[in-house]
Amino acid sequence: MTARRLLTPGSGNQSIPEWVAEHLGPVSTAAPNLSGAETVEIRGGQRAADAALANFEVRGYARRRNNVWPEKTRGASRLSPYIRHGLVTLQEVWDRVADGPDDDVAKFRDELLWQEYARHLYARVGAASGATLRFEVDERSAPPAVDDSEHPWSSSALCVETAWQELTEAGWLTNQQRMWLASHWSVREGARWRDGEDLMYRHLLDGSRAANRLGWQWTIGALTGKPYGFSRWQVEKRAPGLCTRCPLERNCPIAEWPSAAEREPKPFTDDRLRQIDDLREISGPRTWEQSGEPEYVWITAESLGIADPASACAPDVPLIFVFDEPLLSRLKLSTNRFRFLTETLAELAEEREMEVWLGNPIEVLAGKRLAATFAPVPGWRERAALLDLVAIAPWPWLQWPRAGSVTSYTAWRRTRR
Ligand SMILES: Cc1cc2nc3c(=O)[nH]c(=O)nc-3n(C[C@H](O)[C@H](O)[C@H](O)COP(=O)(O)OP(=O)(O)OC[C@H]3O[C@@H](n4cnc5c(N)ncnc54)[C@H](O)[C@@H]3O)c2cc1C
Repeated sequence: MTARRLLTPGSGNQSIPEWVAEHLGPVSTAAPNLSGAETVEIRGGQRAADAALANFEVRGYARRRNNVWPEKTRGASRLSPYIRHGLVTLQEVWDRVADGPDDDVAKFRDELLWQEYARHLYARVGAASGATLRFEVDERSAPPAVDDSEHPWSSSALCVETAWQELTEAGWLTNQQRMWLASHWSVREGARWRDGEDLMYRHLLDGSRAANRLGWQWTIGALTGKPYGFSRWQVEKRAPGLCTRCPLERNCPIAEWPSAAEREPKPFTDDRLRQIDDLREISGPRTWEQSGEPEYVWITAESLGIADPASACAPDVPLIFVFDEPLLSRLKLSTNRFRFLTETLAELAEEREMEVWLGNPIEVLAGKRLAATFAPVPGWRERAALLDLVAIAPWPWLQWPRAGSVTSYTAWRRTRR
């Protein structure tokens, strides 16, 4: 694979979908239109992120967060794709809801802390996240091929089918639907959770290994020993009326609770979950650190905001973004995700000089003096170690990492007091 510089998105006559198809077609999975419905897109870009944050109404969140259907009853903010890509920080979202009713604000902020916990956990153990599993998970069936046509979500049950359609067509799901799909895949069907996680990740606009893995592990009971059982009961509660439209209404495949036994915990095998010595490796620097003059600000999927700390510290330096071809060839992300990213890049390019590349980031960035914002993901750290980073900006943590336990959300919260 030879790295190549791409026409900056938004600079020619091509629409964003055309740009994605031409440059990223071979490394992507085409988003289907299974339902034939007009999809409500979550648009990329800072303007859309700012508008979503400004328009979010936290009142009613605690009561409505888990609603699935009808869509207009949902209380979720749909801010996750913007949070995932650094267009809004957790701190900005935290501050934005300060004036809301106490119980709604408390519930919403608790969810922001779950996101922060996922980041802390992933920053510590990263790809070795299997080591965080406290409980054995039953995986009864042979692993299905991770493809988009035959899998445990290919079902005529409307609750599963509509969630799959939303995931693939719009790239976003409520938390409740994510739990339904993960539970159906793993707890009921006994398929390998990592395959399900990969398939969900492929389609999510907000897909992050940190939050997706944590969500799957929680749902299948790998963290608590108690799997979340998904059955008709939840659908009737969270999507009232959906079952009466379902072709399987009288022959419901999820009428009963799936059989899943509680399990005994096993000891943690990864000491890093309890304590780490080198906090700085996880947290990054506390202040802007500079040893030379950068030629480029290297931006990544974590740092696409207009106020990205490194971009703000080096305002006259051109931006550089690399679509990581070796990685993307394996992941085969949805064209929806690429549309979102490309819309964001196109908007950034209106403000700043920018180069966009497709190739191996190490090759593209070799020999260039770079500034970048620290990212709490192992992949970023591995690449950064091989590059000439002459300036690093701190990651905008909601809460600065500490060296103590991250064995569970509760244990992690305790270390914060
Ligand atoms: C199986 C499964 C997979 C998931 N995969 C992802 C993923 O890849 N990326 C991702 O960002 N979230 C993931 N989540 C967490 C959660 O479902 C989404 O963050 C949330 O649904 C996004 O919608 P929202 O922005 O409207 O959330 P809101 O309810 O409006 O919450 C606001 C923000 O709080 C955070 N948040 C809310 N719930 C959670 C949670 N349970 N865990 C962590 N953070 C949370 C998110 O940053 C979210 O944007 C997953 C959950 C499960 C059960």
